[in-house]
This record gives sequence, structure tokens and C-alpha cells, in this order.
Amino acid sequence: MLNYSVDAEGIATVEFDYPGKSQNILNAASMRAYADTMQKALADPAVKGIIVASAKKDFIAGGDLAELGAAKDAAAFHAAISDWHKFIRAVELGGKPVAAALNGSTLGGGMEIALGCHYRVAADNPKARFGFPEVTLGLLPGAGGTQRVPRLVGMMAAAPLLMEGKRIKVAEAQKIGMIHAVVPAGEERKAARKWVTDTLAAGTKPLQPWDTKGFKIPGGGPNTPGGMQMLMAANAMLREKTYDNYPAPRHILSCVYEGLSTNLDTGLAIEARYFTNLVMSPVSKNMIRSLFFGLQEANKLASRPAGVPQQKYTKIGMLGAGMMGAGIAMSTATAGIAIVLLDTTQEAADKGKDYARKQWTKQVQRGRMTAEAMDALLARIHPTASYGDLAGCELVVEAVFEKREIKAEVTKKTEAVIAADAIFASNTSTLPITGLAEASMRPANFIGLHFFSPAEKMPLVEIIVGKATSDATLARSMDYVRAIGKTPIVVNESRGFYTSRVFGTYVSEGMALLEEGVAPALIDKAGLIAGMPVGPLALADEVSIELVYKVAQQTRADLGSAYVERAADRVAGKMVADLGRLGRKSGAGFYDYPADGPKHLWTGLAALYPVKAQQPTLEEIIERLILVQSVETVRCLEEKVLRAPIDADVGAILGWAYPPFRGGPIGWLHTLGLPQALAAMDRLAAQHGSRFAAPQLLRDMAARGERFYA
Ligand code: NAD
Repeated sequence: MLNYSVDAEGIATVEFDYPGKSQNILNAASMRAYADTMQKALADPAVKGIIVASAKKDFIAGGDLAELGAAKDAAAFHAAISDWHKFIRAVELGGKPVAAALNGSTLGGGMEIALGCHYRVAADNPKARFGFPEVTLGLLPGAGGTQRVPRLVGMMAAAPLLMEGKRIKVAEAQKIGMIHAVVPAGEERKAARKWVTDTLAAGTKPLQPWDTKGFKIPGGGPNTPGGMQMLMAANAMLREKTYDNYPAPRHILSCVYEGLSTNLDTGLAIEARYFTNLVMSPVSKNMIRSLFFGLQEANKLASRPAGVPQQKYTKIGMLGAGMMGAGIAMSTATAGIAIVLLDTTQEAADKGKDYARKQWTKQVQRGRMTAEAMDALLARIHPTASYGDLAGCELVVEAVFEKREIKAEVTKKTEAVIAADAIFASNTSTLPITGLAEASMRPANFIGLHFFSPAEKMPLVEIIVGKATSDATLARSMDYVRAIGKTPIVVNESRGFYTSRVFGTYVSEGMALLEEGVAPALIDKAGLIAGMPVGPLALADEVSIELVYKVAQQTRADLGSAYVERAADRVAGKMVADLGRLGRKSGAGFYDYPADGPKHLWTGLAALYPVKAQQPTLEEIIERLILVQSVETVRCLEEKVLRAPIDADVGAILGWAYPPFRGGPIGWLHTLGLPQALAAMDRLAAQHGSRFAAPQLLRDMAARGERFYA
């Protein structure tokens, strides 16, 4: 856990060395080991000063999230964190100089250990990052971070670190005053030692700034005019951005305001309470489960079929150089893989490459990429109209028009050229994969890879397994998704697959509310307050009401008498077929988009759907917009469209920016408790119809007292 040595001059080195891991992490065991060792060093008269260091390539990666996520006993947790505060205070006030030698990244609880030392020197390591990622998982830096950082660097510089989880490089950490010195990599221990021996030689008692007489918070405390102004603005900005759905940044602000209004010890006591509250809150448990463990599992390809050798990719084919094709080509080239970008004409293919050039040029102009790096990326994209160029591709993705016949034609032409074991993937958003695979000579090698727009940015790929798709094709497709740095979830065939199907219920519920006479401004605001990135009506405009309409028509044609009409089908029909209001792309949808000003709700909407006098409460609307997604997601689990609850939650957050504080559509049911969720569904189904009817799976689970997550 820790290595401990004392040299001839009485300088002790306490070295973190977590066994069996590439990184040092903080948990009950490693924290205990550190406290014991430091107490031994402080108590030993032969030890004059202490260096804290790491045996790994980084200093400390942060806290053990499994342990935090599992914490249940608030009183015990509060007692433990308060003890840790006391221990760090004992180091600060122990009278012996303590220096931290930071060889690499120093994050979260690791940065807090460093802040509890009198001196911090860091290696000039370009890969190293410093900061507090806690807030991104619904937590706060609870080992003194909210108190020491603003006392050290001022509230202004502390805000992005604490409230946004911003990670900074070594030069910036030094500039704002979070570390004292930067030295060439490998010299940091020597520099730490020099500071210790210099301090000993000077004979001054080492003290933290906040323990020295006349200490003032840099830039002023919370009760100075500047401080008050800053906190007021931060509070307002926070509410505007999050609608107060996230307790962590609010608690961080409270820690800063309340804690900096008093002395450090009282501030730490305040922080311990807020921290305990967050650790026990369902929000942090949801965020840790979905955004950390769920994401990690998906990225490690936990559900990849076993026994298939990993596929390395050197050449990918891309059919269709439109919006999606160009984006997928960019992601592929960025991963260092050559990509053949094919369209019907050379000109059309070139257009796709031009899109990539335009996007990357912006990066170059912003200093995020060198011109040489851009040239190297562009060199990997080969635009063409000739199928012969696809020879040698290990995988070909199709993103041509959403028409069965066109997709069938390009499948045949491609398979005539590519190797027998190459994979053919369709990026269709709606067409069943098994049906598309009928055009293929090798349906076992045929799969759906559903990217999201803009494909160069969006992190999720929904992999759709058709009836004939082989395990090897699935495994190798997952390798491609990871190779281009995206996160896969695997789903089985279903209309709309998983993401579009569930996401569509949110949009449709917004339209149902509109039909009922709920004020459109209230509907869209409720969506935002529910935590969704965009209100349902505005969202319909963005994806285009026409698309909603077309999908409805297609579904009606395919399902015949089994088709169940939804509000979205009626409303979209009216808007598109009757009024020609297609959405944002036509400048007219639920909103108007004047050229000379911001969008506003279309004034004609009131005549079409008169607003009734009695409006539902905000809570009622939010409940419907959120639960309708959960019901559909459980149906996907029941029908085995989804393979695991965590896929649903990760897919929702990455795919359509479902609010992470709820955990995901399944995480939210878990948060409510299944019996409570069931009661709400029964009530909503009675009021609004079968779309809220609880799936049998949920009834059975609730009856047996089961849960989706442990
Ligand atoms: P797009 O219209 O921007 O691009 C389609 C491209 O395919 C065009 O450049 C067109 O010239 C080319 N093309 C048409 N027929 C071809 C042929 N026979 N051979 C080669 N190229 C041909 O469309 P898009 O938005 O990029 O969508 C493409 C596919 O991706 C569709 O199946 C769509 O459903 C799916 N998709 C779209 C989105 C989205 O948000 N746009 C998201 C996921 C999936």
C-alpha cells in the first residue's frame, strides 16, 4: 500500500504504491495506511521532515467509487470523513515540513492529500492533470477540497475546478497557485527534499497560509462586495443551467459560502455534512452507476461474445458521403484508420471530405490541432465513386438514403468487391436489419451500426443484431466501435431499435399534452426542468416533424391492423401534411425561426390546439414526460430488445442526453422504487391510456421484491 523510508538526515519518504493496480486510489484501506504511516513519521523524533510521493506513473487517481457508491450508513460515513479531516489537520499543524512530490496526475482525494501538505512541487509532465472530478459524479471534494482550494487560489479561480470538475495542466495549476513549483520530470522528489531541508535550515515552523496570522482569502472572501457578486452570479448561472436538479454544485457553493465565512476547522465540519449528504443521495449513486461503472463496462466490451479474436482495423469503407457518412469518416480517420468514402459521384464524395476539412480547419484555427495533424487525417480519407476502391476493407458502413432498394443495391455492389469475411454494417435509423440483410449474400456478416448525429461528436453507437448476425460479426463490430473511441450498446431488432423507440415517446408525449390543450410553453419548459436537454416540441422541430411523420407513415404501412396510433402521428400529420410546417429545417414548425431574431413559438399554434383554462401542474407534466420513457424502456427489456438494464441507462444518457441525475430510464425506476413506479404507471394508464400500462416484467419484479440494480 505504502512504502516508508527514512534517510540519514531524518527525511522520511512516504510513497503511495497501491498493490495490484496501475494507479493509486484512495479507499478505507489506503487512507488508513497513509494516516498510520504519517502519524508514525510525525511522532518519531528521528524524523525531521516528510516527502509524500508515488511509486506509480501518476500521483493519485482519486477515490474508490465502488466504496463510495456502496456507502449506506450516513453517521458512520460522517464520522470517518471527520476523522480524515482531523488527520490532515494534524499533518498541517504537526510542526514538521511536509512536501508533496507530484510526478503525474493528481486528482480528487489525491489533490486533497497534496493540499494538506505545506509544499507542492510537480513534474513538468504534459500528460498530468490536476483537479476535482467529483462534481461530474454528483459528489464534492470532501476531504477539504472545497475549503482549501478557494483559500489558496481565490473563489474565482476555484469555481471551475470545484463546480465543473475542470482538470488543468501543470502550468495552469502553478499559475493559479495550487502548486508551488514545476521542475523537469524526475526531479520532483529532489526539489521536494530541498524545500524540506531549506525549511529546516531556516528554523521556521511550517504552516499553511490559513494557519498564519493575518491570512486573507485571495481576491476577497464571500462577504466582501466582490465575493458576494461572484457568488450571486454563480448561483444564478447554476440554476439557469441545471434547474437545480444537481445537488452537488449547489452544495459546493454552499460549502464555499458558509465555509469561507468562518475558520478552516468550522469550514471542514460544514463540508463533511454536505459531503455525507451527497454520498447518501440517489443522485450520486445514479451518476456513479451509469456514468462511471456502466460506461466503463460498455467501453471494456463486457458483453462482447467470448472466443472471437480481437479484430484490428486498417481500412474501412463508407457508403454515402452525406451528413452521417462524413462524420463517421472523420471518427474513423481520427482513430488512425484509412477510410474509403464512396458516393454516387466523385463530386458528392469530395463534398463529404470537404466537410471533414472544414470541421478540422476550425480546430486548427482554435489551436486545438496542428496543420500537419490535419493533413495526416485528411490523407486517410479517400473519396471515390468507384466500388473497386473498397477492396481490402475489413468493414463497410452504409449511410446512403433511407430507402430499402438503394440500400439493397449498394449492399450487392459492395459484397462483390470485399472479402468473404468482411462485415457489412447499415447505419439505418428505422429499417429492420434482418430485412436489409436479405439483400446480402452473407447475412451472418450483416449488422446494424446506428450512429448519432453529428457522428464525429456523438459518443454512442447502437449496435443492432439481426436474426442472422453471427456472434463473430457482433464481436468484431464492437472492436470497430471501440477503435474509433465510441461506446457501444448492443440491442436486438425492434422498430426504432432502442434509442429512437424510447426517445420517440418523449416527443410524442409532448404532442399528446399539446393535443390536450396544455400550453406549449409550459410543455417545453417542463421538459427542460425535467432535465432533458430540449423540450419535446422544440426537439421535434430539431429532428424535423417531417421525420416523425414519415416514420409514422412507414410504421402504419408495415403494421397494418396492428398499428396503434399515437398523438405524435396525428399532430405531426396535421403540421406536415396539412400545414407544411416541417420543423426547423423549413423555418417553420412548432416554432417560427425568423432570420433576424431568436425563435419563438408559432402564434398559429393557439388556434390549432386551444389552450384550456385548467392547466396541469408542472410536476404532473414532468412525471408524464419522464415515466413514458421508462415504461417503453422496460418493454424493451421485456421483449429482449435490450440485454441489460445498464445498457438502457448508458444508451439513454449518451444517445439522447437523458438526464444523468436520474440514472437513466431504468435508473429512475430504481430511484423511485418499483412499487412506487408501478403505482404511478397504473394511475397514469387509467388517466391517459395504455402507453403508460406497466409491463408484466415490472409487475413481476415488484411482486417478488426484486430490483433492477443491487
Ligand atoms: P444524407 O442525405 O445527408 O446523405 C446520404 C448520402 O448518400 C448522400 O450524399 C447521397 O448522395 C448518398 N447516396 C445516395 N444513394 C447512394 C448510392 N446508391 N451510392 C452511394 N451513395 C449514395 O443522409 P444522412 O443524414 O447522412 O443519412 C444517411 C443514413 O443514415 C440514412 O439511412 C439515415 O436514416 C441514417 N441516419 C441518419 C441520422 C441523422 O441524424 N441524419 C442518424 C442516424 C442514422
